[in-house]
Amino acid sequence: MSSPKEPAKSAKTAETPKPSNFLRHVIEADLENGAYASRRWGGSPGDGPHHTGGIPDPAKIRTRFPPEPNGYLHIGHAKSIWLNFSLADQYGGVCHLRFDDTNPEKEEQEYVDSIRETVAWLGYSTLLADQPQAPGTEQPHEYFASNYFDFMYRAAEYLVESGHAYVDEQTPEQMRAARGDFGTPGTNSPFRDRTPAENLSLLREMRDGKHADGAMVLRAKIDMASPNINMRDPTIYRIRRATHHNTGDKWCIYPMYTYAHPIEDALEQITHSVCTLEFEDQRPFYDWLLERLCEGGLLTAPSPHQYEFGRLNVEHVITSKRKLRQLVEEKHVSGWDDPRMPTLVGMRRRGYTAESIKLFAERSGVTKTGNAWTDYAALDAALRETLDPHATRAMAVLEPVKLVLENWAEVFGSDTHLEACEAPAHPHHPEMGQRRFTLGKEVWIERTDYEETPPKGFFRLFPGNKVRLKYGYVIECTGATKDAAGNLQAVLAKLVPDTKSGTPGADSVKVKGVITWVGVADGKPAEVRLYDRLFSEAQPDAGGRDFLSVLNPNSLSIAQAIVEPGLASAAPESRFQFERHGFFVADRHDHAPGQDGNGRLVFNRITGLKDSWSK
Ligand code: ATP
Ligand code: MG
Repeated sequence: MSSPKEPAKSAKTAETPKPSNFLRHVIEADLENGAYASRRWGGSPGDGPHHTGGIPDPAKIRTRFPPEPNGYLHIGHAKSIWLNFSLADQYGGVCHLRFDDTNPEKEEQEYVDSIRETVAWLGYSTLLADQPQAPGTEQPHEYFASNYFDFMYRAAEYLVESGHAYVDEQTPEQMRAARGDFGTPGTNSPFRDRTPAENLSLLREMRDGKHADGAMVLRAKIDMASPNINMRDPTIYRIRRATHHNTGDKWCIYPMYTYAHPIEDALEQITHSVCTLEFEDQRPFYDWLLERLCEGGLLTAPSPHQYEFGRLNVEHVITSKRKLRQLVEEKHVSGWDDPRMPTLVGMRRRGYTAESIKLFAERSGVTKTGNAWTDYAALDAALRETLDPHATRAMAVLEPVKLVLENWAEVFGSDTHLEACEAPAHPHHPEMGQRRFTLGKEVWIERTDYEETPPKGFFRLFPGNKVRLKYGYVIECTGATKDAAGNLQAVLAKLVPDTKSGTPGADSVKVKGVITWVGVADGKPAEVRLYDRLFSEAQPDAGGRDFLSVLNPNSLSIAQAIVEPGLASAAPESRFQFERHGFFVADRHDHAPGQDGNGRLVFNRITGLKDSWSK
């Protein structure tokens, strides 16, 4: 009995603290102070098709998710996507999907398309548009850094003219040596004191293709002795003859990321520019640049503010794009969307729900401390929680062996008789309907459900023992047949009449074991892909270890299974709980529904029924 001093269990659950998210406090304080009420459009028209109309309702908070389209998004990006879009959503703001495409050599349309599709899959497509809008004027909040190249270049000329930037012709080696290090201040470049006029004509020559790639760069003129190395005259433009996926060959100079990013944020009137902690030391340059451009009247205050949070690291998972690419290119996996990959296309194909990924992102918290590793079990738990209420139940036999009911004709009058059986599609959702299948003289059962000499505590099939065929009858095992080599061929049993599930006689015989099965007459063959963790170590690349050396050799095994007949019409990406086995999804690409053998059934194991990740 609970006394007033001991709160009831339900009260305790209600007290579960919300996951930490310091950005909520920041935004709430800003909104309270009306920090954004006075914002107005700061860019000028002609900078590109995506924002020339100006940005409506400047009082809103604006966040952005700024992927570089040089690879596929992964679980770490999901954290950032969730964070930016959900903050915007929660505070009535807007989140921009912005392709940070300033590095043409590595960027491709394929990645742009995949990123766009993945963000929509996570459920943020509706948030891409400002609401409300006049019908027919929907403009997606999709932006490209490359649409601002004209503005960025103009801003560079302004910096040159106002003495805040110069063209440097030192070699990369000389520049590196002159930069100094943590203990040593840098030294000024011999080109640092060129006049603005000289710098301007050199910058224009760079733009006009008069100089070779790498011959010179444009640098901000700040302080070579700054304790922050990022402030030691960072490079802001470089010469690179590369065709850009958006601007083609219009430019042979491209802005550096650290220069481009603050400008992108400012032009889009981002209020909270959220990034991971490794950019903390870049914030002084971010602020410096925007202050200069406001001074020059190219931008209007207030400027966006950068906030850093600790990146998401998940145990047993690698999130470095370079390493993920290596897994694909060296064919350790079948592609970017291999269901073992932590890419969002891989996780989608594996059967992860968008809800589970967002729930996990939220629960992992948003803090200012770095390098925390999150247990994979937390992702798996979020997954099970979101799957269980919706996944249709089904029976599947993953390691089939035949069971023959010897007295079938005696009980039902004919060996070919098929007994109709049914089961709920979901035990807690009668509205999801019933599944139908048949029981006949021969059924498939799991090889592991039979033991000739059972170990202690084994309640399934062994000679003389009774079990229930789930949703069917009680049967009593009589033995088994073996081939010449002694391998199990078929398990033999007798059906106990009048014990059918759902009939009054069902409880007349008590059994300790219930086994799943699929009829030989109506079961369908299916390929079932059983996935396990890709890396056997929690931190695959810890301490400089070669992550390939800890690849789990058993991360994929394929079962030739038999599944209940209803699964032949399963649509790709539909999710099921195979009773006793776990959660499975019809493969997005390889599964083709079809009756009478004209389909190809392929299911991926999403996860087991119980946690296998916790230490
Ligand atoms: P790289 O810059 O090496 O190509 P990246 O992972 O930083 O890789 P981006 O496309 O620049 O890739 O990332 C887009 C956004 O996703 C950035 O704002 C970045 O901070 C965020 N992000 C990337 N990885 C994580 C992570 N593990 N946890 C949280 N946010 C992340
Ligand atoms: Mg990056």
